[in-house]
Amino acid sequence: MFKTKGYAAPAPKAPLAPFSFERRDLRDNDVHIEIQYCGVCHSDVHQARDEWGRGMFPMVPGHEIVGKVIGVGGKVKKFKVGDLAGVGCMVDSCLDCKSCKEGLEQFCENGFVGTYNGKNKDGTPTFGGYSSNIVVREEFCLKISPKLNLAAVAPLLCAGITTYSPLRHWKVSKGQKVGVVGLGGLGHMGVKLANAMGAHVVVFTTSASKVEDAKRLGAHEVVISKDMDQMKAHLNSFDFILDTVSAPHDYDLFLSLLHRDGTMVLVGLPDKPPELHAAALIMGRRRLAGSLIGGIEETQEMLDFCAEHNIVSDIEMIPIQKINEAYERMIRSDVKYRFVIDIQSLNA
Ligand code: NAP
Ligand code: ZN
Repeated sequence: MFKTKGYAAPAPKAPLAPFSFERRDLRDNDVHIEIQYCGVCHSDVHQARDEWGRGMFPMVPGHEIVGKVIGVGGKVKKFKVGDLAGVGCMVDSCLDCKSCKEGLEQFCENGFVGTYNGKNKDGTPTFGGYSSNIVVREEFCLKISPKLNLAAVAPLLCAGITTYSPLRHWKVSKGQKVGVVGLGGLGHMGVKLANAMGAHVVVFTTSASKVEDAKRLGAHEVVISKDMDQMKAHLNSFDFILDTVSAPHDYDLFLSLLHRDGTMVLVGLPDKPPELHAAALIMGRRRLAGSLIGGIEETQEMLDFCAEHNIVSDIEMIPIQKINEAYERMIRSDVKYRFVIDIQSLNA
């Protein structure tokens, strides 16, 4: 077993605090990673505060993990000691059902094993990346290009793939008008990726202070979503809208901006169910869908796409001791645009 230092939420809504635990010994197909950086996703806040109601405590959050390989099991083929490696939201799945065989492990019919707040197949709890090291089976480890800033790559493992996957699935392409709702961790990646795919990108933000940033990140237009005149100017005009908002808001309003047969995809997962008027869909035969992270193969494709296009996250690095403050700021939409924990700070 490997002694591991981390930070955990001891109970729902309690502040995160130092926590020691052990990682399993390496199995034949395991990779042992010394974690260098871990991104802070809004899903960490939702789960550490048990807003989705399935929290297991103590909980060590963190599913945007990058670091160095420090050990490999006897049958590992893709990684060797010294390589960079990444881990996202999943550490295991059955790899045998229809979804897994199609590379859609996130929809594993037997349930994927979450990187944290999940249960390994032997029933033990999983602990995430707010920690010094992690042991993960090779199939769920990603190759990381040494070309990019490692700390700024960490958020790609969740925010990157969660926005890349729907853009690809719904075939966003050159010349399409694409909206991104909410300019946070997911949203700012959505803007960069949709821009790189050639779309005409419009950001919807509630924060007037983010307008200039949105343009720098790749938006062609920016709309303050609280300003109904600005909203009305875009009625019936979008091919695709990606909604990344973490709190309850008016979906009908954004659906009305889609043109006929347009699609809006929800990736933001607020704690309360929305109100939705059927007319918002009926008029114009509009579609509303959801999307969950992305499969492992697609995550590797996204990382390679980002390396090719020089895309990383805009980050604010924090020592782990500032994690509770970071959560508060994230809830206030005060992050530009992803907190990343420098895991070295665990030794401070
Ligand atoms: P984040 O960095 O906190 O960004 C959320 C953004 O939503 C904020 O920056 C803000 O943007 C906007 N917002 C917040 N409160 C709002 C409100 N009351 N009304 C309107 N807009 C509001 O969060 P994140 O890490 O990007 O995560 C976003 C959501 O996606 C979370 O619910 C998270 O759990 C979920 N998620 C889903 C998946 C998936 O697979 N589907 C994966 C990861 C995360 P502006 O300041 O620009 O308005
Ligand atoms: Zn996440």
